[in-house]
Amino acid sequence: MTAHTFWLLLALLFVGGAIGFYAARRPRPSVLGAERLRGNYLAGVNFLVNDQPDRALEAFLQAAELDEATVETHFALGSLYRRRGEVDRAIRIHQNIVARERLDPAQRDQARFALAQDYLRAGLFDRAVKILEPLAASGAHRISALRMLIGIHEQERDWPRAIEVFRELERAGRALQPDAIAHYFCELAIAAREAGDSEEALRQLKAAHAERRRCARGALLRAEIAIEQGDLALAERLLGTVVGQEAALMIEVMPRLAQLARAGGAGGEACVARLVAARPDAGAEIAFAAIIGDTVEFAPLEQLVRDYLARDEAVAGLVRASGRDPATLDAQAVRDIAAVLRRLAATTPRYRCTNCGFSSIGHFWQCPACKNWDSQRPLLRFDLVAGLDKARAQPATDGP
Ligand SMILES: [Zn+2]
Repeated sequence: MTAHTFWLLLALLFVGGAIGFYAARRPRPSVLGAERLRGNYLAGVNFLVNDQPDRALEAFLQAAELDEATVETHFALGSLYRRRGEVDRAIRIHQNIVARERLDPAQRDQARFALAQDYLRAGLFDRAVKILEPLAASGAHRISALRMLIGIHEQERDWPRAIEVFRELERAGRALQPDAIAHYFCELAIAAREAGDSEEALRQLKAAHAERRRCARGALLRAEIAIEQGDLALAERLLGTVVGQEAALMIEVMPRLAQLARAGGAGGEACVARLVAARPDAGAEIAFAAIIGDTVEFAPLEQLVRDYLARDEAVAGLVRASGRDPATLDAQAVRDIAAVLRRLAATTPRYRCTNCGFSSIGHFWQCPACKNWDSQRPLLRFDLVAGLDKARAQPATDGP
């Protein structure tokens, strides 16, 4: 169905419904009123059919002024405009409903809520918040308004307000993502660290831990601070809990593990070995993270990468094509191949959201597309074909 026929069908339904509704609600309308109403609607439909949406909108708005019974139809028209991306028109329709003098309070709230959705869609966050806050206090739209508010605060990175709204949703038993609160505290901890305030960062991480004892992100941040402060035993324990919890997070663990091992001097490699040994089932995740994180220098990781290169069919094929046996690569060859894979990986998506399928080159704690927390997982295979194609299209600038 083309957009044109879609609008035509919609308009016919709209007029039919409006006039039918009008007739049902008012068994004996004044002949003149009914005629004017019908005239305005028909004019609106004509404008729509002739691709004159602004004039159509005017005609419908005039019809709305004449007829209070068709408010539901106007809600439908408003939300259709919004869904089509014609937000200005949706805003006009909903403002028009809100401004009606005689309106049922529930319908006025509904119109306000719709208007807030229009503003959100238009990126006018301040205006949306202004409408949503009273709606979030009580009434039929309370939970939806709170959820929209939390989305806005997350987008604006206003974590204290996100925490407040989360608490309200939690009290109502309606928080959609129970772990989000721990991320808000982690975000505050990161901001404190960036401002050079370690004490405040530790306080926020404590709050994150109090909310969710298995907060991997909080443990990783706490481990970073522990390494900085020379408390290597604590850092190892924290990284160990994350490794034990979630193999997919090796990508986040690896740079901290390398930092810890380097800080540990002679004992560094043994520390890596202990952590790796805790997850014999996660060889692929660990090898992948070691390639991406450039930590193949540590012997326990080099061994896992070697196994990975031999096991991954595409990579092993590439190694064989270069005249080597993937099972007997020397240390230098393992590092060279890892470096090539790392460069390829820098140009192709490596993570995918388990909720919406969004893929990206970098790791996000919150999916940029669906806004879910903790839903990204690494793709454990390197996309050699796409990577080589891109590398060919954009030759490295540092080479001859
Ligand atoms: Zn997603």
